[in-house]
Amino acid sequence: MSEIVLKTEGLSKSYTVKHKTILALNDLNLQIRRGEFVAIMGHSGSGKTTLLNILACLDRASAGRVLLNDVDVEKLRGSQLNRIRRDKIGFVFQSFNLLPYLNARENVELAMEGSKQSKGERSARARELLGMVGLSGREEHRPSQMSAGEQQRVAIARALANDPAVILADEPTGNLDGKSKGEVLNLLLNLNIKQGTTIVIVTHDNQVAGEAERVIRLAGGRIKSEGKGNLARRKKEFARRAGGVVAGDTLGQPETPHDEPMDRA
Ligand code: ADP
Ligand code: MG
Repeated sequence: MSEIVLKTEGLSKSYTVKHKTILALNDLNLQIRRGEFVAIMGHSGSGKTTLLNILACLDRASAGRVLLNDVDVEKLRGSQLNRIRRDKIGFVFQSFNLLPYLNARENVELAMEGSKQSKGERSARARELLGMVGLSGREEHRPSQMSAGEQQRVAIARALANDPAVILADEPTGNLDGKSKGEVLNLLLNLNIKQGTTIVIVTHDNQVAGEAERVIRLAGGRIKSEGKGNLARRKKEFARRAGGVVAGDTLGQPETPHDEPMDRA
């Protein structure tokens, strides 16, 4: 399998409202490698959400294409598209989007609907994932019985349910207070460092983006600049200590300043 999980080629998206055309994405070329943690920043209206929605196959481009694990998603229709959305992409929303009448476990199980697993297997997987995000013992709680940070951790567990190729998150800490923001950020960092999960987050928070590996800034639907965040330096240090090998599993051992809450698993 290619090292490139997601690739856009000449991606453009225009919206026409009252005879006026807005170019939300303008010939955007982007590559996300397996195991990367990328933050996308940019002012309001710069095209961040449009880009993420197209990457998640929730919306279609006006021109150009998106390759997900080398598959041109533009060519997919109906059930094929649904399957790729379910199996290859884990999406995390700013406002969690949990179903209020289902408990945490049921919300996670719902993501596995239509998979080959039995009811029992889905339930076991949901418990395992909730443990991984530090919510053991909270499986039967409904969203209204959990804090905002806990709800977002349930949403992250749900996004991981089908072991996706990439987690896409649109402002995942945007609705959280400082403490919960730190917990959710550390959880995402740990998933990336310890399990090699590929993560792309949109954020306008400098502190959050600063912890990422790669920081991409959008302006006017194009990439304006690219830089490195703290995680790039940390990974280099892990690799140096591990003898030059950079891989998800080898990163689990060295101590990191971000050990909550995945270590409770
Ligand atoms: P961001 O997430 O960076 O704030 P968006 O991707 O939401 O930016 O929007 C990019 C541009 O596209 C903005 O000018 C926005 O007004 C416009 N836009 C987004 N969605 C629509 C839509 N459904 N219809 C018309 N214009 C849209
Ligand atoms: Mg947005």
